[in-house]
Amino acid sequence: MKDTAKIRLFIDADLLAGTSITLDKDQTHYLATVMRVKVGTILALFNGRDGEWLAEVMAISRKAVSLTLLKQNRPQTSPPDLWLAFAPIKKARLDFMAQKATELGVCHLAPVMTEYTIADRVKLERLKANAVEASEQCGRLNVPACSAPESLNAFLAGLPDNRLIMFCDEDLSGHSAQSALIKAEAKFGKKPWVILIGPEGGFSDIERVKIKRLSNCVTVSLGPRILRADTAAIAAISLWQSTLGDWA
Ligand code: SAH
Repeated sequence: MKDTAKIRLFIDADLLAGTSITLDKDQTHYLATVMRVKVGTILALFNGRDGEWLAEVMAISRKAVSLTLLKQNRPQTSPPDLWLAFAPIKKARLDFMAQKATELGVCHLAPVMTEYTIADRVKLERLKANAVEASEQCGRLNVPACSAPESLNAFLAGLPDNRLIMFCDEDLSGHSAQSALIKAEAKFGKKPWVILIGPEGGFSDIERVKIKRLSNCVTVSLGPRILRADTAAIAAISLWQSTLGDWA
């Protein structure tokens, strides 16, 4: 059994036995004022490289909390190479989508601007903060990368050929998602993937034709009902994870 610590924090610093770490202002505020930790409290830390470490609170002031690293609790692991590309939606739903996608195990959040995208900008810092908070909460050992928004055209042009696109098409003309994923893996082998979800207004006909023409596009349906974008993202990630990913 691994030791459990109630509080998990994502930090930048390297994690090595015996090292002392002084936390930054925000994490100090969180621990000292919000969580009211005491000297001697054991926390878990991860940085995306060195696994999960247990650390003991050595000193607390309003300015800084300092910790000493005790031992590695879990070795580093990474979720499968699955990205989520999505057209930005309104604030609360976007927060929700970023948090849930992180919990479900995507490793990259990529906002893409499509023709019918309504939200005109994405606060990248907010996207990252959601990814960090959800990673701390769900026990994963890295935080998804978050890229700056780009146009659908630029995103598709920059996508490596070997990354397969699970194109979630609300047109309902796709095949059963599970069998399409299994067939794609049989044809192309184990590959990195990106799930592509459109905006509340859906994809335009021109976009749909363009995406479907790509040799790495696998079109899927998520059932007979039109899902909101945040629901579609969760459904698609769950399907992918349970068919080809780390729940399979
Ligand atoms: N306004 C559009 C719906 C967009 S839903 C319409 O009424 O047709 C937002 C996104 O969620 C879609 O672009 C698609 O990527 C995904 N989505 C929703 N329901 C889906 C379904 N049943 N199958 C596949 N993708 C779906």
